[in-house]
Amino acid sequence: MRALILEHARPVEENPLREADLPVPAPGSGAVRVKVRACGLCHTDLHTVEGDLPAHKSPVVIGHQIVGVIDALGAGVTTHKDGDRVGVPWLHSTDGRCEFCRCGLENLCPNARFTGYDVDGGYAEYALAPSEFCYPIPANFPDENAAPLLCAGIIGYRSFRLTAVHPGENLGLYGFGASAHLVIQLARHEKCNVFVFTRNEEHRVLARELGAVWTGRAEDRPPEPLHAAILFAPAGNLVPHALRVLRKAGRLTLAGITMSQIPALDYSLLYHEKVVRSVANSTRQDAREFLTLAGEIPLKPEVQIFDLREANLALQALKKSAIRGAGVLRVS
Ligand SMILES: [Zn+2]
Ligand SMILES: [Zn+2]
Repeated sequence: MRALILEHARPVEENPLREADLPVPAPGSGAVRVKVRACGLCHTDLHTVEGDLPAHKSPVVIGHQIVGVIDALGAGVTTHKDGDRVGVPWLHSTDGRCEFCRCGLENLCPNARFTGYDVDGGYAEYALAPSEFCYPIPANFPDENAAPLLCAGIIGYRSFRLTAVHPGENLGLYGFGASAHLVIQLARHEKCNVFVFTRNEEHRVLARELGAVWTGRAEDRPPEPLHAAILFAPAGNLVPHALRVLRKAGRLTLAGITMSQIPALDYSLLYHEKVVRSVANSTRQDAREFLTLAGEIPLKPEVQIFDLREANLALQALKKSAIRGAGVLRVS
C-alpha cells in the first residue's frame, strides 16, 4: 500500500515524510482494517514530525483523524461489518483496568496507545484499529468534511465541556484553527457569545462569518469580560493575556498537547477563584457524544483538501497558519 512514513523527526520545511510501499496490514483479534479515504491534519502531527513529542515508533505512519470504510474484520468482531464507514481518532486503545479507566478518565490511562504515534495511522491507504475504538460517522458528512471531527472536533468538544460554559455567557477562543472553528459552532448552538483572539486576519474573517460577536488580537481587551476561555494556540505567553480578560471565577482551558513556557504570573491575575486547567486526549464517550451532536446541529467543517502526496506541503501550511478551517488529506 501507498504510505507516507516518518523515519527521523526534522523541521517540516525539510520534507520529513517520505512515500513508501508497505504491506497491507492484517487485523488481529478484535481489530478492524479500514480502507482510508481521508485523514485530517492536526497540530499533533506537526509536533510528531518535528520532534516536539518524543518518538514512540520509528518509522511511523502519522495521522489520527481517519475516515474510511471497513474492509476486513479480525476474529471476534461483532460490532462492525464489512463496508461500514467509520472514523478512527487519536485514542487507539487503553488498558481498561487502571484507576483512571475505572472512573471514566480513560483519556489519562498510563497504558493508552495513540493512533499515528504508538501505532501506524492514516497517512496511508489502510489502517488498523480496535473495533471498540472506531465510531460510525453521521451520514450527512462527506468523507473529507468528517475527518476534522475526529480530533479537532472531539478534543474541541471535550475542552468546551470541561470549560462548562452556559447559555448567554461570554466565551473567548485564542487561536482560530481547525478545532476553534468547530467549537465556535458548538458554542453558538448553545447560545454563548464568542470572542475570538487571533493575529491572522483571514481567521478573523472566518470567525465573524461563523458568528463571533467580536474579533481581535490576543493582546486586545474585548468590550466585555469573559466567563471562560479556551486557549488553542500552543503559546504559553498568551495565558496571562487570557487571565486578564476573565471575570471573577472565570475558567481558562488549555487545549494543546504541548505549549511553550508560561511566563511568571502576578497572583492578581489568578485571584478571585479563577481556574486554569489543561485537556489531555479524549474518551470513547467524548467521541460518541460529539459525533452524534455534530450530525444533529449539524456542524459545517470548513476544509482545505490536499492530496496524500502533498502531506509535507500541507503540514508546512498548517505551521504557517495558512489553512482556512481544517486541512485534510484525500487518500483514496
Ligand atoms: Zn489531533
Ligand atoms: Zn487505563
